[in-house]
Amino acid sequence: MQVVILAGGRGTRLSEHTQTIPKPMVTIGGRPNLEHQILLARRYGFTSVLLLVSHLADRIESHFGCGKRFGLEISYCAEDPPLGTAGALHHARELLQDRFLVLYGDVFSECDLARLWAYHAGNPALATLVVHPNDHPDDSDLVDADADGTISAIYPKPRPEDQYLPNKVNAGVAVIERKILAMIPSGQHLDLARDIFPALARDGRLRAYHSSEYFKDFGTPDRLVRVRLDYDSGKTARLSRGHSRPAVFLDRDGVINKEVAHLSDPAQMELIPGSAESIRRLNEAGYLAIVVTNQPVVARGECSLDALRLIHNKMETLLGREHAWIDALYFCPHHPDKGFAGEVPELKFDCGCRKPKAGMFEQAIRDWNISLAGSYGIGDSRRDVMAARRMGIAAIGVKTGSGCRDCDALDSPDWLVDDLGEAVDIILASGGREQP
Ligand SMILES: [Zn+2]
Repeated sequence: MQVVILAGGRGTRLSEHTQTIPKPMVTIGGRPNLEHQILLARRYGFTSVLLLVSHLADRIESHFGCGKRFGLEISYCAEDPPLGTAGALHHARELLQDRFLVLYGDVFSECDLARLWAYHAGNPALATLVVHPNDHPDDSDLVDADADGTISAIYPKPRPEDQYLPNKVNAGVAVIERKILAMIPSGQHLDLARDIFPALARDGRLRAYHSSEYFKDFGTPDRLVRVRLDYDSGKTARLSRGHSRPAVFLDRDGVINKEVAHLSDPAQMELIPGSAESIRRLNEAGYLAIVVTNQPVVARGECSLDALRLIHNKMETLLGREHAWIDALYFCPHHPDKGFAGEVPELKFDCGCRKPKAGMFEQAIRDWNISLAGSYGIGDSRRDVMAARRMGIAAIGVKTGSGCRDCDALDSPDWLVDDLGEAVDIILASGGREQP
């Protein structure tokens, strides 16, 4: 297993740190980032490292040598002048194995590389890109993928304000087939993300791997400070897929967005004031924010799946503008009662996902390595309370939306509070932030 690290970055915005050291050699926790990456790769079974170097390459080579000290084999390919991320790969073509992992030397992460590698092996594509939600999607290139994970398009920034896309950002980690070299013209300065991936996405040859692990480039002084703090506090390791994390399962209508009868048009999607701020606090504390929502409007024929997708994209966009994100969203499009005009007959059945049933929660647990201990459910109806009970997690009811007015003595929430903000207050106070 080979890992290729793009380590040619100059780091102009970090000038006081990088005049004499190349950007990937900037230290985090007293160790150069490149060394973190090499040790991470070794931990997940990689034995061969190829460093694509340019700026101050001698500083990198003298630190790592042949790799013996780090327990794996390290080789180098130097470009002068720099050729961009795609140009550098093409330049190193003779040294590449048939399949390799690519890391950017200026991104810090502790993601589970073995799981990513296995995902790519089981889901063939020319490349699998790790995508993740971040707290500034408007300022990021965004990736859109079909339900099966095939990337349908990549949307570079800047974009029109009313273009609603999911908050999925290219994390700068990918598994790539050597065959991709045929798509890269030789001897040119080309960037993978800008010049190569968009065309491959249009041809359906890329796949997205969704992650909520820690990925952050430290390309500005502010970001470097943040990455160092997160590393020192242990947050970067805690967010790794191998550690189970508590989740907050959020109902959608009346909890995050204003309740509208039979919401079916993106124009009707408006956040409840304060909900983005509340979700942002969950993000910062390391909780997975998972939306679980019954959407029988689909079965009733009132809202197409395309419209529902746009509604959710708008919700993610509005949250993103307030620096909040949801890690995943599950919806039930079904409804049990047949016999209405306009309905979609194949969605009219008694499914296993419609709350208060547990199907969406169980799927989320399989997808995200969730620990139910310390997890919560938040909703505005009896169904939400019953679903949380069924999962054995604490239920918080909110007075927004339907206000839990259908709850009876048997199915009443553990707390009934004014809104999502108060619910998050309870979670952060009782569960404590920064869960182990
Ligand atoms: Zn369902």
